[in-house]
Amino acid sequence: MIPGSFAYHRPKTVAEAVALLSELGEEARPLAGGHSLVPMMKLRLATPDHLVDLAGIGDLKGVRSDGADLVIGAMTTQHELIAADEVAARIPILREASLVIADPQVRYVGTLGGNVANGDPGNDMPAVMMCLNAVYHVVGKSGERRIPARDFYQGAYFTALEPGEILSAIRIPIPAAGHGYAYQKLKRKVGDYATAAAAVVLTKSGDRIATCSIGLTNVAETPLWAEEAARLLIGTALDAAVVKKAVAAAEAITAPASDNRGPVAYRTKMAGVMLARALAQAAARAA
Ligand SMILES: Cc1cc2nc3c(=O)[nH]c(=O)nc-3n(C[C@H](O)[C@H](O)[C@H](O)COP(=O)(O)OP(=O)(O)OC[C@H]3O[C@@H](n4cnc5c(N)ncnc54)[C@H](O)[C@@H]3O)c2cc1C
Repeated sequence: MIPGSFAYHRPKTVAEAVALLSELGEEARPLAGGHSLVPMMKLRLATPDHLVDLAGIGDLKGVRSDGADLVIGAMTTQHELIAADEVAARIPILREASLVIADPQVRYVGTLGGNVANGDPGNDMPAVMMCLNAVYHVVGKSGERRIPARDFYQGAYFTALEPGEILSAIRIPIPAAGHGYAYQKLKRKVGDYATAAAAVVLTKSGDRIATCSIGLTNVAETPLWAEEAARLLIGTALDAAVVKKAVAAAEAITAPASDNRGPVAYRTKMAGVMLARALAQAAARAA
């Protein structure tokens, strides 16, 4: 399939990109790695008149520490995230989740910003960002605003981004040293989107869970932050009965589509299975 015709723009700064997007209006879309947008254009599910390519804007790339946070430029590719020592050392769940996105060819070009701004419930990074309590830096013609990932997703392909705004960076609080983490993803084959996936970050105090946060991928119209399930685990030794309760609480907030990845009941159960596995792995990894 061949996309419809469009005009191509390649700004060099964030200010230039924002000015272009607001001048061109709702028929203009930012282009990052193009690995979600271009397939949608080929299927004519997206028909923008203008693409504003962010690839020439150096300020949108890279990983830096800022106090207790890591700040990752929106145009940092999934491959660059996997290769970043600072990411592996301080927020290893980002590397673990990036490694199960698609395949190396997609990850060389696909960006973290595109993955989280896209609004596709099948994208892996949004639930990880909700789990980590990340904050998105968004720039528009009236300046910058910061939106917690937990408030960003409003429906399938519907986010808090306004037309004319771009996501410039993702700010992630670095979890405590010695935290446990896991991203467990069920997929039909290598390179597939999740049938269901669960992200867990926790800390332990002795043999008890001190803090816990859970995100779920592709089991509702938006990524999910399973707040109640995590709350049930805090203060416990993660025994089988309590894990069962947390799994039930997580399954209760899912509303997956019935599609070629399976019927609703199967995908709901798989969200629970992925969560139980992620909890066990995260607890085993926690110091
Ligand atoms: C074969 C294949 C398999 C895949 N499998 C997976 C998978 O298993 N898991 C997964 O998570 N993803 C998967 N993907 C999607 C891939 O990770 C994409 O790269 C990613 O979803 C989008 O990132 P991008 O940089 O390519 O963004 P683009 O496709 O360029 O953009 C996606 C959307 O976000 C908007 N956008 C992009 N950047 C910004 C920004 N900075 N500010 C505002 N809006 C922006 C665009 O306008 C567009 O609407 C797969 C893709 C392919 C082709």
